[in-house]
Amino acid sequence: MHSHSRMSDGMLAPAEVVRRAHAAGVAIHALTDHDELSGIAEAAAEAARLGMAFVAGVEVSVSWGGETIHVVGLRVDPGDPALVEGLARTRDGRDARAREIGAQLERAGVPDAYEGALRHVGNPALVSRTHFARHIVEAGICADVGEVFRHYLSEGRPGFVPHRWAGLAEAVDWIRGAGGIAILAHPGRYRLDEGGLWALMDEFRSAGGEAIEVVSGSHTPDQYRRFAGHAREFGFLASRGSDFHAPGESRVELGALPPLPDTVVPVWHDWPETAALCGAPGAPRSRARPGAPG
Ligand code: AMP
Ligand code: MN
Ligand code: MN
Ligand code: MN
Repeated sequence: MHSHSRMSDGMLAPAEVVRRAHAAGVAIHALTDHDELSGIAEAAAEAARLGMAFVAGVEVSVSWGGETIHVVGLRVDPGDPALVEGLARTRDGRDARAREIGAQLERAGVPDAYEGALRHVGNPALVSRTHFARHIVEAGICADVGEVFRHYLSEGRPGFVPHRWAGLAEAVDWIRGAGGIAILAHPGRYRLDEGGLWALMDEFRSAGGEAIEVVSGSHTPDQYRRFAGHAREFGFLASRGSDFHAPGESRVELGALPPLPDTVVPVWHDWPETAALCGAPGAPRSRARPGAPG
């Protein structure tokens, strides 16, 4: 329920991501590029060709309390005008930010940073820190993308340029307005203490957010348990996704995560896409919501 293609900061074409998910045995796959829907048509067509259930998704960049938060939207209508327009506005300013990131990196001794990052970009509207990270690895300055983020591009490091993304309620409104469900992405990744996280989940729920990622490529097994508990406390549905970006680069491969704990209700519990799959081995489970009769 969470993956990236070249249309944002993944390395594979949308159809290649779908083929890789299918080959890995994924039963239902969502493409969720950052602030971008332009890979959906290609991915959906390839999934249809392979007979794999596919979900149109997006991962919206949000500014909240001085932090960058990600909100995944699933089962969105990729043609919804308010969503399309909102995402276009969210992408706006990425290039200016990238030029500033490049200038900071040059001052820190990384040559041709902006041009180098652009060589890795698959979609000119979506220059991401990930593209700078790949350039810095390719230039032999760091061993891998994780090391780049530790030395550069993170807050307090050269190449960190604060940016104003979408508002939390705004992002949730776009997703719901486009017929989708809003899911708080990888809540374990934010630099928030317990109180901050609580405030975020509370505000997210009040804004119409209905789910959180529990089993994520960004979470440890301890965090699966912790966020399963938070999902129950808040009445959130639970999602699961690798956050796959690229072969050999992403910590978790497509389809390789463990199942959701059975104490939570999957976001897909009442989706028509999964109705045909339920009961099949390894298929997403369908279950009553906690507290619901039956
Ligand atoms: P941006 O939207 O340009 O700020 O880039 C954010 C992207 O950078 C995320 O979606 C991740 O793919 C990547 N990223 C952020 N932090 C890290 C990290 N510590 N290690 C690897 N990738 C990261
Ligand atoms: Mn990313
Ligand atoms: Mn994310
Ligand atoms: Mn992601």
